Amino acid sequence: MKKTITVIPGDGIGQEVVAGALQVLEVIAKKFIHTFEYKKALAGGSALDATGIPLPEETLTYCKQSDAVLLGAVGGPKWDSNPQHLKPERALLGLRKELGLYANIRPAKIYSALVDASALKKEVVNGVDIIVVRELTGGLYFGKPSGFEKRNGEEVGFNTMIYSESEVRRIAKSAFEIARKRKKKVCSVDKANVLETSQLWRRVVIETAKDFSDIELSHMYVDNCSMQLIRNPKQFDVIVTENLFGDILSDEAAMLTGSIGMLASASLGGNVAMYEPVHGSAPDIAGQNKANPIATIASIAMMLKYSFNLSAESDAIENAIEKVLSKGFRTGDIYTEGTTLLGTKEIATKIVEFI
Ligand code: NAD
Repeated sequence: MKKTITVIPGDGIGQEVVAGALQVLEVIAKKFIHTFEYKKALAGGSALDATGIPLPEETLTYCKQSDAVLLGAVGGPKWDSNPQHLKPERALLGLRKELGLYANIRPAKIYSALVDASALKKEVVNGVDIIVVRELTGGLYFGKPSGFEKRNGEEVGFNTMIYSESEVRRIAKSAFEIARKRKKKVCSVDKANVLETSQLWRRVVIETAKDFSDIELSHMYVDNCSMQLIRNPKQFDVIVTENLFGDILSDEAAMLTGSIGMLASASLGGNVAMYEPVHGSAPDIAGQNKANPIATIASIAMMLKYSFNLSAESDAIENAIEKVLSKGFRTGDIYTEGTTLLGTKEIATKIVEFI
């Protein structure tokens, strides 16, 4: 298989973690006989420095012409005082919008060697492997009207939660397709006992499920889901939910696992998906070979699975991560006494060796 990947290292540790991930991708190419071509592109602070804008047209063109996008992270203190439209983070919004990425996929997977890093009891989190599919471009965050005005002599703030059938249908479809590559279970989370948007959401999810008879669909109210994630997270496989609920639940689910340096993500929707670690550019450790590259390497595993349909290759990466951790190799963020502390490059090389 031959695929073109636009690679946007970005700023700070973005550069370092992406270098580690590409090393891993290259060994996968060699072992499974694929060709990955890389187009390096600028976004964020590095783009501002080189071109004066956070998301150059050339970067967008590269992304649209490629089969997938890998992003490190953007941002840093150098650009913090820039006006809003010249902040590095604008590049992220621009990429999501231009590539039509309406589905944000955040796995929360416990690596057994790191089970003690969770704030929850071992027996509750051991074996947790959840994916939260969050609708990313609709709902309360984008609904109109929104704003402030004076009513009855005092100021009010207001937002509109709104979803169309087609918006719900496409995100439900994404969730069912993802579940097909996993345990074939989807839990749709809403607040249908109170909200009309949720009632429509539930109706459309049920309707969409008719095309996915192999998937077991359940429904849960969001307040109950937030409790169940802590009480018994192992009951979940794929959770699908709207923007605001997903924003909160994906952070809650991710934190079952411990460190931000381990959290991968994918944004799907348009023709080209984007894969990136959840963390930012970590200016406090940038350039010191201290960053954990596993979130980015796990994002590559997601790319292979979801964009290229290469499940065996994806599993090879996941298994190698698991092995490296179980042999006691750690970066600083997940280091505990008795384990072996390695730098960004060294832990990426270990993962390559295990593959
Ligand atoms: P951050 O995620 O960069 O860092 C938070 C803390 O976690 C820091 O102590 C950092 O050292 C640590 N950390 C993060 N990733 C790590 C890794 N891979 N290995 C080890 N430790 C890691 O968040 P922040 O400090 O709030 O933001 C820094 C910059 O990143 C800001 O400019 C922010 O806007 C930007 N940011 C970008 C993205 C993105 O590109 N998607 C996301 C979040 C923040």
